[in-house]
Amino acid sequence: MSGFIFSEKPIRIDRGEGVYLYDTNGNEYLDFGASYACTPAGHCHPEVVDATTTQLEELCYVQASYPHAARTALYERLADVGPVDVDNVWLCNSGTEANEAALKFARHATGRSKIVATKRGFHGRTMGSLAATWKDKYKQGFGPLAGGVEFVEYGDSEAMAEAIDEDTAAVILEPLQGEGGINPVPKGYLQSVRVETATSGAALILDEIQTGLGRTGELWAAEKYDVVPDVLTTAKGLANGLPMGATLCRDWIAEDAGNHGSTFSGGPVVSAAAGATLDVIERESLPSHAADVGGYLRGEIESRLGDDVRDVRGHGLMIGIEVKRGSNRLLRDLAIDHGVLALPAGRTVLRLLPPLTVEREHADEFLEALEAVIA
Ligand SMILES: *Cc1c(COP(=O)(O)O)cnc(C)c1O
Repeated sequence: MSGFIFSEKPIRIDRGEGVYLYDTNGNEYLDFGASYACTPAGHCHPEVVDATTTQLEELCYVQASYPHAARTALYERLADVGPVDVDNVWLCNSGTEANEAALKFARHATGRSKIVATKRGFHGRTMGSLAATWKDKYKQGFGPLAGGVEFVEYGDSEAMAEAIDEDTAAVILEPLQGEGGINPVPKGYLQSVRVETATSGAALILDEIQTGLGRTGELWAAEKYDVVPDVLTTAKGLANGLPMGATLCRDWIAEDAGNHGSTFSGGPVVSAAAGATLDVIERESLPSHAADVGGYLRGEIESRLGDDVRDVRGHGLMIGIEVKRGSNRLLRDLAIDHGVLALPAGRTVLRLLPPLTVEREHADEFLEALEAVIA
């Protein structure tokens, strides 16, 4: 048997450039999904390609116990751009590993075991992160998972306050739920979770794997909500398509994080790619660009299609469009008939996570296709 895990789409992509992908027949696709936010700087950004290939030719890999310039630079870069005081960096290869580390560190540093997570939250598919993920579909038949996880309604401050007790090691949540349907929460909610966790001595873990790196209009969504977590996790677009995750921690977590490690933690090639990606995001002011183009896009969807959809929500270039019929058929029509790629978030929500380099003209191209398939 081969390739049995993923169901595959009927399009063979073999090239990408900027906000476009191309299939083996030479057809062009406007990429409004960025393969789940994995290419914030656009496909094959020349600066990222250059940094990556240069590093590959110099040194592909050396065991993590030997410091290496690309990784040392990335530690400093992440400490610099992370929320204030959340400046101790652990590097890994994916989002689920970044959360797995966050949960381990929080348990070790607090000496407590309970984890509070949110309904409809998504944190990954390894045993610990999966235990903190809401949807049953992802968990069925894999138990027993890591224990001690309690789920509360996302956005309900009182339920959160009640769930946090003296055995709570951590609260883990997304500042804006992605997989769960693009669900924003009021600023006051995250601030109250911050106060409750601090009062109880539990760690606040913000999973910014989808929201981070400029997507919501700030480099981190935490800034948008004026909340500084104890731990912040990032991955997906961190190395613009190469596999990398990071767990950023405050001192009190890092100083008592326990024994953790990973062979490929911060390898030279992915570190070089991530450094270049962060450079591009900063130099091209992609967070504020995302706020601008995203605001335009949301406004236009509302004014042109307001009556044809149930809801439009999100921040920056993380947008959910709740539609009146199944999202799968619409996504298929967008791709096959109009050369536009987007994503689902559940059965009735279209999810837009384009490269942060999209311009208004691309938004217009998307809007035309969306009007054609919905109206
Ligand atoms: C994708 C995602 C993850 C898991 O990342 P992987 O790299 O697939 O392990 C975790 N949390 C959030 C919010 C995500 O969007």
